[in-house]
Amino acid sequence: MIFASNFKTNHTRKSTRDYLYRLQELTIKNNLFSKVYIFPPSTALDNFENIAFNIGTQNAYTTQNGAFTGEIGLEQLEEFDIKTILIGHSERREKLFETQDIVSSKFQFFKDQEFDIIYCVGEPIEIREKGDDAVIEYLLAQFEGIDTTYEKLTIAYEPIWAIGTGKSASIKDIENTHKALKKISNKPILYGGSVNAKNIEDIANIDSVDGVLVGSASLDADNFCEIIKNGLK
Ligand code: PEP
Repeated sequence: MIFASNFKTNHTRKSTRDYLYRLQELTIKNNLFSKVYIFPPSTALDNFENIAFNIGTQNAYTTQNGAFTGEIGLEQLEEFDIKTILIGHSERREKLFETQDIVSSKFQFFKDQEFDIIYCVGEPIEIREKGDDAVIEYLLAQFEGIDTTYEKLTIAYEPIWAIGTGKSASIKDIENTHKALKKISNKPILYGGSVNAKNIEDIANIDSVDGVLVGSASLDADNFCEIIKNGLK
């Protein structure tokens, strides 16, 4: 199982450091050997000594460096040995207007740099309400320009209506969608959308779920540790 935590615009430099060392202590104490990814805000990226997890960036621009106000590029990531990135998160698609063209060129750029990529896809509620076929058609369009055979690719299926709402997708919906996605790519597929310490066990028990991407419920290190503990399978 993979356990990924997306801090979004939460946590400071100090609280990120405290979180990571707290999680380190908890995972060692509880014997939680698993694949853990943490995505802090870019202001909190750093060289964290002895941290056993993968630290990734929530976003970056397709450049080594240059005149791209407000963005970070490879030069800033290299300083902290960051080789993992989230691409295609629905908040960047919807709130920051990243089109499929932007998302796919970002994918191509970071693929060329051999980054581990967690690539997010997910449908809005009006598509989910139309049924499974409409969902798959919508998700397929989010793979345009994406190399689904890239060896360092992990897919995250995150229905938009389940993100941050406290209303996770049903087990059946997750199962059906992941099964369909497995036909598109043989890479690991995470589920994301209101995962918490209570529902993780049922979600982790779904065969086609290879891990989870967690927002709100992962912001507290003890809580995230509880999710890992309950979700190990
Ligand atoms: C996310 O935004 O990636 C996410 C899954 O958020 P939450 O767990 O809060 O639904």
